[in-house]
Amino acid sequence: MKYISTRNKENFASWGQAIINGISKDGGLFVPESIPKISNIKSLLNMDYRELAYEVMNKFFVDFDKDSLRNSIDKAYDEKFSKKEIAPLVEAGDLHYLELFHGATFAFKDMALSVLPYLLKEAIKYTGEEKEIVILTATSGDTGKAALENFADVEGIKIIVFFPEDGVSNIQKRQMLTQEGDNTFVVSINGDFDDAQSGVKKIMNDNRFIELLENRDYKLSSANSINIGRLVPQIVYYFYSYLNLLKEGKIKEDEKINFVVPTGNFGNILAAFYAKEMGLPINKLICASNENNVLTDFINTGTYDKRRKLILTSSPSMDILVSSNLERFLFHLSGGDDKLIKNAMESLEKEGKYEVEGLDQEDFKGYFSTEEEITSSINEVFMEHNYLMDPHTAVAHSAYKKYKLETKDNTKTVIVSTASPFKFGTKVSNSIGIDTKDKDDFSIIEKLGEMGNLDIPNAILELKDKKIAHKNNCNKEDMEKMVLRILEIGDNR
Ligand SMILES: *Cc1c(COP(=O)(O)O)cnc(C)c1O
Repeated sequence: MKYISTRNKENFASWGQAIINGISKDGGLFVPESIPKISNIKSLLNMDYRELAYEVMNKFFVDFDKDSLRNSIDKAYDEKFSKKEIAPLVEAGDLHYLELFHGATFAFKDMALSVLPYLLKEAIKYTGEEKEIVILTATSGDTGKAALENFADVEGIKIIVFFPEDGVSNIQKRQMLTQEGDNTFVVSINGDFDDAQSGVKKIMNDNRFIELLENRDYKLSSANSINIGRLVPQIVYYFYSYLNLLKEGKIKEDEKINFVVPTGNFGNILAAFYAKEMGLPINKLICASNENNVLTDFINTGTYDKRRKLILTSSPSMDILVSSNLERFLFHLSGGDDKLIKNAMESLEKEGKYEVEGLDQEDFKGYFSTEEEITSSINEVFMEHNYLMDPHTAVAHSAYKKYKLETKDNTKTVIVSTASPFKFGTKVSNSIGIDTKDKDDFSIIEKLGEMGNLDIPNAILELKDKKIAHKNNCNKEDMEKMVLRILEIGDNR
């Protein structure tokens, strides 16, 4: 199976090259030339998470050594996850919540980033890459920590994370700034997430810069969801939750279900789309945005228009105006029309918008939630079902309410729950009536644990006394310089 670029199908890579490079040299993203199918879904019924992960990932990484793949998966999905199911499905009222936040850093990014280091190591073996890998990552809060945690002290790899100084929650920031490991570097930038993401993409497409690094035996890669190695592991839990419902008799064989996915960079929901294309019986995919509602508008009008101000919300991991992975979705939807994608992406860069006509997005619905709606969703679900949602999950819950009101659709629905409420303690506390005024983050979290009758993860409690290990800061224009400084390379271009 080849991986081809969304902007020029002639540019292709093996799975290994695609994972190492992260992005195609023409600026496009790698996609599988065709999406594989799983025909007999029922045959997967009794698999645990790891076995299922192998079945799904093996379809995409066909010539990945089979034992190595099994091994990678076994090492990734182990006791780092606090629940043996890895991705438990929790019922509250009429809805099921697919909890993806039981990994080391308490957000769904762990689902893919716990396995990515192993995939990357195998990719290095497979391709014979000899340079030291430098992973550049832009983060809206969760990817950064998950990447740092999972790549810390991995030999032959350095990791540099850029985050928006004012665009992450306090806990997210502390998680990153206290990261240990000699190969980890964290940089706050004076800008927003889109600045960080476009900065990273720019660096990865700057041929002179790449050459400068290659002469010093460094090779750039990415841990963002532009990397296909992020996307493929995320397909697994859509199958997993479906099979779980089937096993428990909550749905019948072949019965379709809905997923509601809180969306920023369109990675998680794209993985759901891949699952659907692979044959998983999905009715609607509901794309939930916060007040940065570019995607809602796009789904409703066919025009993507980023010319608006980025709003800082209580769901910072979705404060994004340029959703990278939409590019992959449009590529598939247009039947692989690389010219169309290239033009659209150029137009987005130059004019801040693009329009696509005649693409059938029937399977997708888009809604967004305001801060008040997020608050009332957190409150309502807690009061009625004693279930605590984080603000990102609440965006999805609130979007679902709108969907339901509009369509009266009674299809069984899974809300994708992407973060632990403890990562966003203040918003969650305020929503359920805890007064947080003049209280520090940790006493807020403690109170929240009491109220919700939940154990606070140790790794969160420990943040309180951990020492700050990273102090780098730069302007968004100076990200290249920062990379050179970190790698101790003089710039005499
Ligand atoms: C990253 C993230 C999202 C958005 O996921 P995308 O794949 O970027 O759409 C939603 N919720 C949380 C908690 C996240 O960390």
